Amino acid sequence: MQKQTNRRSSRIATKGAALRFGPALMRRLDALGSITEIPGQLTRRYLSLAHLASVRQTEAWMAEAGMAVRTDPLFSLFGRYEGKKPGVPAIMIGSHLDTVVDAGRYDGGLGVLAAIAVVAELSRLGERLEHAVEVAAFGEEEGSRFPTHILTSSALVGAAKPALLDARDADGMTVREALAAAGGDAKAYRACARKKGEIAAYLELHIEQGPVLETKGLPLGAVTAINGSVRSVVTVTGFAGHAGTVPMGARRDALTAASEMILALERLAAAERDLVATVGRMKVLPGAQNVIPGRVEFTIDMRSPADALRRRAHARLLADLRRIAKQRGLGVDIDTFQENPALMLDAGVVEVVSEAIAACGQEPLRLASGAGHDAGIMAKLCPSAMIFVRCKDGVSHNPAESITAADADLGVQALLEAVRRLDRRLGRRR
Ligand SMILES: [Zn+2]
Repeated sequence: MQKQTNRRSSRIATKGAALRFGPALMRRLDALGSITEIPGQLTRRYLSLAHLASVRQTEAWMAEAGMAVRTDPLFSLFGRYEGKKPGVPAIMIGSHLDTVVDAGRYDGGLGVLAAIAVVAELSRLGERLEHAVEVAAFGEEEGSRFPTHILTSSALVGAAKPALLDARDADGMTVREALAAAGGDAKAYRACARKKGEIAAYLELHIEQGPVLETKGLPLGAVTAINGSVRSVVTVTGFAGHAGTVPMGARRDALTAASEMILALERLAAAERDLVATVGRMKVLPGAQNVIPGRVEFTIDMRSPADALRRRAHARLLADLRRIAKQRGLGVDIDTFQENPALMLDAGVVEVVSEAIAACGQEPLRLASGAGHDAGIMAKLCPSAMIFVRCKDGVSHNPAESITAADADLGVQALLEAVRRLDRRLGRRR
């Protein structure tokens, strides 16, 4: 199945000619992927020496493609390719350079390097648009070093809270200290904020990080929304006791109750098409082989592109958990500590992305993103959308992350086409 779809897409992409952008882009992604903190794996956390080296390398590629380059106080990197008139609003395209620990080489890097390939092509053709094109290489999206995910795009839209700069990494170093060590200036972070109107639209190309495109046999998708999420911690309180002496009928086992709760969560989420729910962490206390668990804590992460559905499902789940606890004579405490609404991307830009994908000879499937992205933050400042590229088995945040040169090629073509169409569309709006 997979082999067939790859063959089909590469035939469409090549149409007898060699791939225009794919092979060079894949070589650059390999080169970027070799810039790592830890030899033998790809780890490039925000403000590490490897991250700073990736900024310098990307800067060189931007300059080579004809862009004027600068970094902001938080080490986001921007390359600007002027429009027909200097100083006009920009269409911004890009993604992030930081990675998770032991990452793949496409999450983030693909969007930055594909954007550079788009500008390099405009530059090669001597083609200037009504808008400037700015390539963004954000510094901190993943939150893999500091608990500050999407810090740098938040700073760009003026939404970064100063307290985030005091967040610490595992060694106790704050973002401020790491910035100072890198030659930056945390105090100047407000200067990262861009004015409304300066950026006319934002477009991010990214691997899907899920299996939908691959299952449908499609190389590209137009992202319509970024899932909303709710996160809770559940504490189940039973009664610890001797594993040998307490009869089964007399137990108040917090772990068997938690197990029933987790299966209820799985059933509930599986019954809805647009809902996923995960228990990713669990603590069993006292945690001894010969003691009946007296207390269990577990996390719930529930996501959906539809807020009403997510809220309804979460409420039903909590009712289920309380019922299970009551039936078993146990206590349950539920702390819901974070709730983010779903974000609808801009309908007009999504439409342009769909048209661009169709113009590349591909079916423009519309889908929601299960993961968060810089585009979700940029949407607060300007109309934003995303293009997803199929990735093998939907795997991401893993060295096994994989895409084909043919799909990368189509990604650049679609991004270039979308930028040209947006330039015309936004020009009419102004
Ligand atoms: Zn990413």
